[in-house]
Amino acid sequence: MILKVKTNSRTEFVDITTQVQQAVQQAGLENGLCMIYVPHTTAAVTINESADPSVAADMLKVLNQIVPWEAGYKHLEGNSPAHIKTTLVGSSEVVAVENGQLVLGTWQGIFFCEFDGPRSRKVQLKLVRDQSVK
Ligand code: ZN
Repeated sequence: MILKVKTNSRTEFVDITTQVQQAVQQAGLENGLCMIYVPHTTAAVTINESADPSVAADMLKVLNQIVPWEAGYKHLEGNSPAHIKTTLVGSSEVVAVENGQLVLGTWQGIFFCEFDGPRSRKVQLKLVRDQSVK
């Protein structure tokens, strides 16, 4: 299953929790796992607080400070900071599904992390049914 994400900035966190939850429901998964995988080298996925959007803004701000735009990078495409931030954040998350719902904490959301936008992106979802649950 593929989700499409359109980003609007060079770096941006996009809350995709609702889209992932809808995909789980449409697939009819009651109990199991939902793997969320980003098949890009300059975009990532993470789970963190979605209740206050300032948290995502702060994370993005500090990631951009940790990985400077200019640092004498060798990669000729000019987007090494995006590659490095992608590796720091990671390309996948796994969330349990119970009774058709993603098992997320009260304040948690799933964020697509754009590090070389704006672009049209894909998120791969893979659902695994829990065989031990009847
Ligand atoms: Zn590159």
